[in-house]
Amino acid sequence: MNGRGIEPTADVSMQGLNTLRLPARAAWFVRVTDVDSLQAALDWADERGLPVLVLGGGSNVILAGDFDGLVIRVGITGRCWSAANGDTAELEVGAGENWHETVMYTVKAGYRGLENLALIPGTVGAAPIQNIGAYGVELSTTLLDVEVWDRDAGEVRRLSAEACEFDYRDSVFKRHPERYVILRIRLRLSRTAPLNLGYRDLQDYFADEDVTDLTAEDVASAVIKVRCQKLPDPDFLPNVGSFFKNPVVPLSQYESLKARFPELVAYVGADSAKLAAGWLIDTCGWKGYRESHVGVHNRQALVLVHHGNGQGAELLSLAARIRDDVRDRFGVALEVEPRIFPVALREEFHFG
Ligand code: FAD
Ligand code: NAP
Repeated sequence: MNGRGIEPTADVSMQGLNTLRLPARAAWFVRVTDVDSLQAALDWADERGLPVLVLGGGSNVILAGDFDGLVIRVGITGRCWSAANGDTAELEVGAGENWHETVMYTVKAGYRGLENLALIPGTVGAAPIQNIGAYGVELSTTLLDVEVWDRDAGEVRRLSAEACEFDYRDSVFKRHPERYVILRIRLRLSRTAPLNLGYRDLQDYFADEDVTDLTAEDVASAVIKVRCQKLPDPDFLPNVGSFFKNPVVPLSQYESLKARFPELVAYVGADSAKLAAGWLIDTCGWKGYRESHVGVHNRQALVLVHHGNGQGAELLSLAARIRDDVRDRFGVALEVEPRIFPVALREEFHFG
């Protein structure tokens, strides 16, 4: 019997449900549109002892093989402005809304805060998972709170931005992937917050313009154009964006690497340095590399691509060799950014 109106479908292909498009099947699949159907789906899986995988747009997961459990796609929609107060306004957005459309909705309404995060694929509900970031801006700068279904407590809760423990491409949700399902987020946006044009690509883009008159919509348009020139569109060349995180290392390690490799690309903070993982991989000679169905993008070495007809194990094998090469040459550990399924393949290639 199916729990409270939900009807999971058996043996569903997930190839079209993620941006890497590797062959993978879900033993069971269901789409939920509210908290009641979510609860019913979780109960249904618990009753059968099945693991659960919560899926948004599938742009930050590596579905490298079959998942022997219930895949729940969160389709909670809706956007609602509240507490508009002169310069600032709060916006509540359902987890199933498209992220990029939400960014464009806010900039067209004249609000600033999300413009640098334009064109990031995926859903609103996944944005807090790794505290999405681009061009010097992270979700955490505008996020007010997150409404979640807490599987441990068995109730809906609202977590403040502080309780989300946001960090560089990290959060409490990423560290406890089984515990929370995100239902909605609330953002606080401003009409007058300063625009962030610090990244080189944006500086170059606006080099001949008077930046004092720029709107958030202008910046979003620039981000879209820059991204389209540099990053592969997953609809044409399947990928998951950055395959590895940029490693953050102690200053002492950065200084000894810089002495050995003067060309090292890194961004130095007060007590640590962020190394450009793309530069490390490129320097090992992998940029543009291809072996049959998988490879490394020719304009950004941090992006691994699937040329079609490949298998998850091929891609993970390539990623493992890149990781080992970087470790052997620079003594730096690369950590995979997206989550890998199934667990057996993650372990086979020693991805933690
Ligand atoms: P999914 O891949 O479906 O899920 C990602 C993780 O979140 C999984 O662990 C999943 O279980 C979990 N999850 C999803 N929804 C929920 C929910 N409602 N509740 C609880 N857990 C959930 N990322 C950046 O940070 N910055 C970038 O600039 C960027 N650029 C990218 C460019 C390209 C071309 C691609 C392909 C990816 C890029 N990404 C970037 C990565 C990715 O788009 C983001 O991480 C995005 O937020 C993932 O959204 P999604 O809905 O596709 O998540
Ligand atoms: P880029 O601008 O060529 O920069 C290369 C790397 O250097 C980036 O990873 C970026 O770190 C870092 N960097 C550049 N300028 C910096 C500065 N002024 N201060 C601190 N760090 C700086 O990168 P790109 O590949 O074209 O991507 C553009 C932006 O989109 C980046 O912010 C990147 O993170 C984001 N992006 C993310 C993904 C993903 O899947 N996570 C995929 C594509 C693009 P940060 O990554 O920390 O910004």
